[in-house]
Amino acid sequence: MAAETPFSHRTRARALASMAAEPVDLLVIGGGITGAGIARDAALRGLRTALVDKGDFAGATSSRSSRLIHGGLRYLEQYDFHLVREASRERRLLLDLAPHLVRPLAFLFPVYRGARVAAWRLRAGMWLYDLLAAFRNVRLHRWLGRRAALKAEPGLRERGLVGAALYYDAQTDDARLVLAAIRGAAQAGALVANYTEVTSLVRPDGRVRGAMVRDTLTGEARTVRALIVVNATGPWVDGLRRLDDPQAPPLLRLTKGAHVAVPRGRIGNTHAVTLTSPIDGRVMFVLPWGDLSYVGTTDTDDVPPPDDVRASGSDVVYLLRSANAFFPQARLAPHDVICTWAGLRPLLAPERELAASAVPREHRIVESPSGLITIAGGKLTTFRVMGRDMVDRVARRLHELDGRPIPRQPPTDRVPLPGGEAADLDVLVEAARAREVPETTARHLVQAYGSEAAAVLNLVERERALGKPIIPGRPEIWAEVTHSVEREMALRLADVLMRRLHLFSETRDQAVSATTAVVERLGKLLGWDAARRSEEIADYAKQVAQSRAYLTEVARLSNP
Ligand SMILES: Cc1cc2nc3c(=O)[nH]c(=O)nc-3n(C[C@H](O)[C@H](O)[C@H](O)COP(=O)(O)OP(=O)(O)OC[C@H]3O[C@@H](n4cnc5c(N)ncnc54)[C@H](O)[C@@H]3O)c2cc1C
Repeated sequence: MAAETPFSHRTRARALASMAAEPVDLLVIGGGITGAGIARDAALRGLRTALVDKGDFAGATSSRSSRLIHGGLRYLEQYDFHLVREASRERRLLLDLAPHLVRPLAFLFPVYRGARVAAWRLRAGMWLYDLLAAFRNVRLHRWLGRRAALKAEPGLRERGLVGAALYYDAQTDDARLVLAAIRGAAQAGALVANYTEVTSLVRPDGRVRGAMVRDTLTGEARTVRALIVVNATGPWVDGLRRLDDPQAPPLLRLTKGAHVAVPRGRIGNTHAVTLTSPIDGRVMFVLPWGDLSYVGTTDTDDVPPPDDVRASGSDVVYLLRSANAFFPQARLAPHDVICTWAGLRPLLAPERELAASAVPREHRIVESPSGLITIAGGKLTTFRVMGRDMVDRVARRLHELDGRPIPRQPPTDRVPLPGGEAADLDVLVEAARAREVPETTARHLVQAYGSEAAAVLNLVERERALGKPIIPGRPEIWAEVTHSVEREMALRLADVLMRRLHLFSETRDQAVSATTAVVERLGKLLGWDAARRSEEIADYAKQVAQSRAYLTEVARLSNP
């Protein structure tokens, strides 16, 4: 059963040994959503597949998104109907393939007098949005008059409000979605290792035939021989292409996007709210997330190196000012911010210069003369299609190389992601409740693990203490720390607190108060000595400090 499939440091060690011992058909570089989708598709076609990431899975852009699986309403403004149709179809599929991780979300798009997007235009756009989803979205949109809009979202600014569109998209847990797709790849036979960096490409005769990889935890180097190497490194795509050809022209135009999370009670929103920023007219969102609301995103050209992305003081000010303009009672100030995150959009460089928000989001596959295949662009929502397109190309190249038959496309539109086998989440919650778990914990476990919540609770059955909350008053329990190591390949403190459990982004102290106890537990599971334990705490503290660096910049902005 999927719940019992291990995916741990031991699996990783075996995968690394195996990929070094025997050539693979395909080596995928990058364990964000793009690499995850490619590896899953390839493994399901029966290709001998390896995937490596220099950090944790989803450690970069794919855990810094707006967490939306969306048809892309705003691409209608760019008349990109193909993208909207494709993304709408993917939204519908993902709601079924991973119902625990991809959940329907009701959006309210208020319209004000004199707004950039006029009411008639929005109403027409909404019909088109439903039409392009073949009227198969969660529900059809509705138009609300001014009174109904205020009833739905009482905190909205009243002055100038004309009405609002109520429509539907979906929200996801981005980091866990990536993890689920990568685990799906591993279940189909892919060899997978995080903390494994590609340091150079192997090109004995001018053709790329593998890569040198370095275990970033131990420093150990290995050669992985591969018939095909795919570069799915998101914002690092151009850097990696230059390992192959130092003159390779850039494929990407990166833009930075930041978010802030604040206590939901301060804004009081019950829906996701779509707004056009009063500062520059850009479309942005106020999105509910449990007790929090997060506001995002910015879209700017101030692009730092991909390893060093964070929300700046001016990002935070922009986001709070935009939210305050629509929710005047919120009066959000920088000290209200619980957490920030930021990422670089790996967008395709347009042929001609465009404003950041007008850069297209579609993906492109490019092959270098030496055979390195790179994928650029795309988004979380369309990862399955990106994976399929890439593996179609890989399968053709393998056929040309050794004459093997081209395998059929696998049914990635029907195979659920791990944990997504259950159609009815309420039944799972009831099953968890029957095991004497409080309601909030039961709901949390089902949302995070789906049908695999049972595997977490099996740990509690074996050791009752693992049923206790990690942080008093919160739903996350100690069994999840063990689960994240044994079934989700967590290798570092930040893997657990930031991407498996989200305590980093959901607690005011970024879970710093829990680090000593969590490191203790991880140390036992992973065999850490005292020095490694201290190193983990110090490294985590550095990441917390980085996410809060905006505070000094905000202070400087207000007292120049
Ligand atoms: C602010 C923001 C909001 C967004 N919101 C949404 C949204 O709501 N919905 C949506 O559908 N899309 C959204 N997107 C787009 C989406 O998040 C990205 O398109 C997607 O996550 C990119 O995934 P990726 O796998 O290509 O890149 P990444 O997630 O960045 O993964 C690349 C990986 O490559 C690894 N890597 C790099 N170099 C090496 C090397 N030498 N060796 C090994 N590994 C290496 C990195 O460690 C990294 O993990 C958003 C993007 C941003 C920035």
